[in-house]
Amino acid sequence: MATILLEVATPDKGEVYAKEINMLITRSICGELGILPKHARLLTELIPHAMRIKEGGGETQLFIGGGFMEVTPDKITILADSAENPDDIDVERAKAAYKRAEERLTKRNAEIDIDRAEAALARAKARLLVKGVPIP
Ligand code: ATP
Repeated sequence: MATILLEVATPDKGEVYAKEINMLITRSICGELGILPKHARLLTELIPHAMRIKEGGGETQLFIGGGFMEVTPDKITILADSAENPDDIDVERAKAAYKRAEERLTKRNAEIDIDRAEAALARAKARLLVKGVPIP
């Protein structure tokens, strides 16, 4: 089966994932994208989500906290604001971030930065999704 190299890095951790894969299902600001080997060149911005990676007959997920993705026919390069493999996700921390963001969004007073709280909520949701934890 044809493969394409997927490399994911973040500013604070460096390389988080580097492997030949069969297909990537990711979320950009323009919607969901399925990337197969020999895909056309593409540069886009990613939103926080649970990214799906198909390789070797199986599927794994990787948390992406937003960032940029460049695609060439042989390689996908993602520079993410934050990214975590499932084993590296701290569920209690994600639950606490979810609760904090939800409380801020419920209050909605003048001091609350709504966009920031919504982005934090989206990151927490995506982390819990990768871990298979039901969203509260
Ligand atoms: P928090 O409010 O808990 O810091 P956040 O969504 O604001 O969450 P980010 O800005 O996305 O955090 O990430 C900052 C750093 O902390 C990154 O290195 C990221 O990988 C790490 N990180 C954040 N939340 C978690 C988590 N639940 N499990 C593991 N690492 C995390």
